[in-house]
Amino acid sequence: MESILEIYKIGYGPSSSHTMGPAIASKRFLQKYPYATRFCCVLYGSLALTGKGHLTDYIIQKTFTEKKKIIQVLFDYTTTLSYHPNGMKFIAYKGDEQIGEWIVFSVGGGSLKEENEPRNTSVTDIYPHQTMNEILNYCNVHQMDFVQYVKMFEKDELVSELTKVLKQMKKTLQQGLFEEGNLPGGLRIQKKAKDFYHQYLKEPSKEKLVYAYALASSEENASGHLVVTAPTCGSCGVLPAVLFSYQIVHQLDDQVLIEALMIAGLIGNIVKTNASISGAEVGCQGEIGVACTMAAAALTYLQGGKNNDIEYAAEVALEHHLGMTCDPVDGLVQIPCIERNAIAAMQAYNVASYVNVAGAMHNITLDSVIQVMKETGTDLHAKYRETSTGGLAIHNRSNYGK
Ligand code: SF4
Repeated sequence: MESILEIYKIGYGPSSSHTMGPAIASKRFLQKYPYATRFCCVLYGSLALTGKGHLTDYIIQKTFTEKKKIIQVLFDYTTTLSYHPNGMKFIAYKGDEQIGEWIVFSVGGGSLKEENEPRNTSVTDIYPHQTMNEILNYCNVHQMDFVQYVKMFEKDELVSELTKVLKQMKKTLQQGLFEEGNLPGGLRIQKKAKDFYHQYLKEPSKEKLVYAYALASSEENASGHLVVTAPTCGSCGVLPAVLFSYQIVHQLDDQVLIEALMIAGLIGNIVKTNASISGAEVGCQGEIGVACTMAAAALTYLQGGKNNDIEYAAEVALEHHLGMTCDPVDGLVQIPCIERNAIAAMQAYNVASYVNVAGAMHNITLDSVIQVMKETGTDLHAKYRETSTGGLAIHNRSNYGK
């Protein structure tokens, strides 16, 4: 497995796969062909179908024009490349001559892969294990907890990088709590985090705080502002809402939350390695489902859970998101995404409390559920995998009277 830092990327919303990934790909292609006079980028599959709402063409144009280069972005709505639904083809020209071409895929969480590149093996792997079962066995033999395990294999800069991640998560959340007005896009959705936070201040409750926090980060993402993927932009509100609400209630210092980020990152990494965190590939179970899984595991750790409790919490959270579809209205990361972050954050609290009562004995393993999630994602009809061609995307109030 790669570093858990790959799960937490700081960048601009609204989508890690549809904005962050294409922006990174654009920069790489520009670096490779600095002498090209013009460029073209063709978007395929989900990138074409929801690229407008997710600002894919905007971010590609912006990245090239910042370097004073001309780019034409084309949408191929009828072709989906077989490696992954988020395909892009970049072409570089010098005058009329084509001097380079690159097919690349934005596979979720801002990560890129090239055609035929194995999905779960990487030259950047730093962990010797890939599954929860392998990790649990290793930890049992060496008598270590998951935090010690992560520290053993991670890069030297882990803590300093996670400190930056935590700081940005907090900054995004705090900014979102005071924003007003409508979100960008044609749905005219009003930002709600500030109102929820006022309701919390008037009559405090854990639920109101969790909802306000989750909405704040998610609305910042929908506004195209700076966020941290956890594991994606669309699901970036769940983990911060759980961590910072727990911190307020229990007066924890940031050091403890850094450890919780290690736990959450480890869990997200296992899912990403063995299945997917891309809504275009496996539906929203891979985004909100995994965000809730990471948050439930982190919370169980914060509440004193041991390795087996954490594995159980992650298993329960993912199991009960199986089959969750991705059908964003108008291709915007707003409905159902924003509300879904708030509900999933409370679900993480429910999972941690359930596991606390149930104890660590259970029948289904996290590895099994990850495998089921992958198979379910493959079985999901394409209209439920970030194409906005079915589900809520076509049965929504904005269609009344049309
Ligand atoms: S429905 Fe879920 S997977 Fe789809 S864009 Fe929204 S948050 Fe991402």
